[in-house]
Amino acid sequence: MKQYNNVIYKPVIGLEIHSELKTVTKMFCDSKNDPNESKPNANVCPICMGHPGTMPTINEEAVKKVLMVGYAIKGKIAKYSRFDRKNYFYPDLPKGYQISQYKYPLIESGELNGVRVTRIHLEEDTGRLIHGDNHSLVDFNRAGVPLMELVTEPDITSGEEARRFAEELRLILRYLDASEADMEKGQLRIEANISVNREGEKFGTKVEVKNLNSFRAVEGAINYEIERQTELLERGEKIIQETRGWDENKQLTFSQRIKEESHDYRYLPEPDLPSLDLETGDFGVENIGVDFPKLPQEIRKELKEQFDLKEEQIEILIRDKKSVDYFYKIVNEFNLSGGKVTESAELELIKLAVNYLTSDLQNILKETEEVKSLDELKITPENFAQLIGLLYEQKTTSRIAKDVLKIMSETGENPIDIIEEHGLSQTDDESVITEIVDKIIAENPEVVKDYKEGKESAIQFFVGQGMKATKGSVNPTIFKKILKKHLN
Ligand code: ADP
Ligand code: MG
Repeated sequence: MKQYNNVIYKPVIGLEIHSELKTVTKMFCDSKNDPNESKPNANVCPICMGHPGTMPTINEEAVKKVLMVGYAIKGKIAKYSRFDRKNYFYPDLPKGYQISQYKYPLIESGELNGVRVTRIHLEEDTGRLIHGDNHSLVDFNRAGVPLMELVTEPDITSGEEARRFAEELRLILRYLDASEADMEKGQLRIEANISVNREGEKFGTKVEVKNLNSFRAVEGAINYEIERQTELLERGEKIIQETRGWDENKQLTFSQRIKEESHDYRYLPEPDLPSLDLETGDFGVENIGVDFPKLPQEIRKELKEQFDLKEEQIEILIRDKKSVDYFYKIVNEFNLSGGKVTESAELELIKLAVNYLTSDLQNILKETEEVKSLDELKITPENFAQLIGLLYEQKTTSRIAKDVLKIMSETGENPIDIIEEHGLSQTDDESVITEIVDKIIAENPEVVKDYKEGKESAIQFFVGQGMKATKGSVNPTIFKKILKKHLN
């Protein structure tokens, strides 16, 4: 919201989000739905190539996935739904029309992150055009892949809010295994409609921004448009209704085409497909059996209430469902019954584990290209829990643990063996530690003086020196005990 000369400008944003569903076969035929197929036109058949006289059939798995997304956004499932033909002529669409849903979408309304969802419907994706200098090629592998479209009400007021909405939707799609929702691969495509109006006046003319290939682009493009439109209005100029693209390098939107009169798609009911009775019919929820996994929002709540984790830590863990599963396996290793934490030691162990899960292990993940989630690391929950146990009982130090973790991720061995094999044991020997303490005290008379004058931070300095002298292996408790004795 911007204010110029006492005029307040209000941004209004609505999103249209397409997502390719993860199904075995395409939407209306049994060609494979394989987003990773690199050979053009490998997964095609007469149906998705639009040959005359072929008949489509509805992919139940795709319908089920949309219904699940519908539930996840507290949506209203339609009692009756149907497919329509959306007619337009373009080479990415061999039939000359796209089978979509117009009047009767599967999901009639919903809500996510406080933003109202207008509808979710199901349609088929189009082929991919590859443009050369004097020619264009068409790859129909993508033609007929189930595509979900979600439309929001114009409830969003900033780029950040739009990004958060889209990120949360991606999380839901992934938790439901409805879509891989990888923006780089075009499995999640976001279009933003943006307008700005003076406070108290009706909504302004909207501009549609396409080609948003990352969440950063969504946020950046929307914020840029808000600025641009606000400045135009401030100068007394009009906003033209148009489609704009996002230039990632220049970080600005540019005009792609001025919106002509709205397309006449001549929608008509798809005569080759049955309508869907979502209450009691074959596609009724009871009959297709929607099995419902836990959603990110519930898991956040659980992690907060049961384990008192920090918000940033929760966000790192839930970014990927497998990480959450991994976390729960570790909790199990600590012998918790039903996750009800009463024992403070167990809670301590869990917190310690989460510190490593959300920092050191994340760094190890970043360093390994192929491995994307915690559960793919060679570190078993059992071995990981064992290391945390050693740390908790002060049988090893955090410095040593870092090295041990790294080796664990490479070899899959257990921490005790690694510590032994690599000579990483902690220095516990009191006589060895006493020698080190005396040396450090002798070398730092100034700091000793500080300590005697009541400067407690001097202790930290000495511990640091002790760690340095032992390459991080000294038992900090024993070190401190001897240090204090010798200082006094
Ligand atoms: P159209 O008929 O042009 O497709 P819709 O009413 O179907 O427009 O809306 C498409 C998207 O644009 C929806 O996400 C909706 O929330 C959003 N939208 C509608 N009006 C505005 C507006 N004035 N400013 C911003 N977004 C808008
Ligand atoms: Mg529309």
